[in-house]
Amino acid sequence: MMKQQNNHNRLVDNFGREHSYLRISVTDRCNLRCFYCMPHEGIEWLDKKKLLNFDEIERLARVFVNMGVEKIRLTGGEPLVRKELPRLIERLSAIEGLRYLSMTTNAMLLEQYAEAIAHAGITHLNISLDSLKPDRLQKITGRDCFDPVMKGIEKALAIGFPSIKLNVVMIAGVNEDELFDFVAFVKDKPINVRFIEFMPFRNNDWNIDRVFSYREMLERIETRYSLSPLEVEPSAVAKDYALAGAKGTVSFVTSMSESFCGSCNRLRLTSDGSIKSCLFYPAEVSLRDALREGADDEKIARLIQFCLGKKPEAHPPAEEIAAAENRAMIEIGG
Ligand code: SAM
Ligand code: SF4
Repeated sequence: MMKQQNNHNRLVDNFGREHSYLRISVTDRCNLRCFYCMPHEGIEWLDKKKLLNFDEIERLARVFVNMGVEKIRLTGGEPLVRKELPRLIERLSAIEGLRYLSMTTNAMLLEQYAEAIAHAGITHLNISLDSLKPDRLQKITGRDCFDPVMKGIEKALAIGFPSIKLNVVMIAGVNEDELFDFVAFVKDKPINVRFIEFMPFRNNDWNIDRVFSYREMLERIETRYSLSPLEVEPSAVAKDYALAGAKGTVSFVTSMSESFCGSCNRLRLTSDGSIKSCLFYPAEVSLRDALREGADDEKIARLIQFCLGKKPEAHPPAEEIAAAENRAMIEIGG
């Protein structure tokens, strides 16, 4: 049974967009150093006391669900480096009214934790993997990680999560030559491979010439494979395609070439408890400070509405984003 929602508090912004999806970053720390996510100079890890604790995360999640959030994704940094994460997952999955609990992971620790997170309530798993070549993957991530990541993927397949997606950030001159290899990789696996356009964040070597656009990727794949478009939810960030004769499917996340701001239904909660209404909009409101000052749920809901009220209609063009001040992706939570 769905919990009765507090209708006057539904998460509708000034442009009529209803928000039902919350991404919660559970840590800013990570066991990899992907150059496109972690700025060259590194980041200063947050003092642990600044992170939301599990009680705070659960309390905020309940407020969001009461306001209409139906789907939560855990992310980071790397969520699996957060101690005792399965305990948090159990607590979140018990929230009445929450329909999906998902996670994005780099899979370094997945072999070890897959069973526990599945048991605790994660049903939808996104795994990031940018190269099928061990040496190249090491260059991209800064760590020798191919074997543990592949073992993690195998374990996730063996457990049979209802949804497994593979996130591949496609970057011209870095891994664009692996487009066909990734498609071949999912031919006999129930995996949705999602090619993500490279997005600009602080000091991440982004420039427009390195964006391998959705149209170019699609055209190239279609020289060898037969793709047919699948229906997607209006708020979907990806364009999905069936792959003839395959178990897997192919998608494109077109954040740069065809933004999906018009149907955006997402909010983000950073690991230090700030709410962000848009990945590329630097303004944040600290729910953690309010919680620690004793705010009740009504006050928290008002702060969330205040932040939502500032959500821009659309993000600026890519070059403007690249020049703007914002936290790095690893600090925000992708
Ligand atoms: N550590 C986890 C992982 O890598 O899956 C979760 C956090 S990571 C920030 C979430 C997703 O954001 C990953 O799939 C990653 O590839 C993607 N990402 C990070 N920086 C990006 C960028 N500059 N452009 C596009 N996608 C990016
Ligand atoms: Fe870590 Fe994920 Fe960012 Fe790579 S993309 S540095 S794995 S948070």
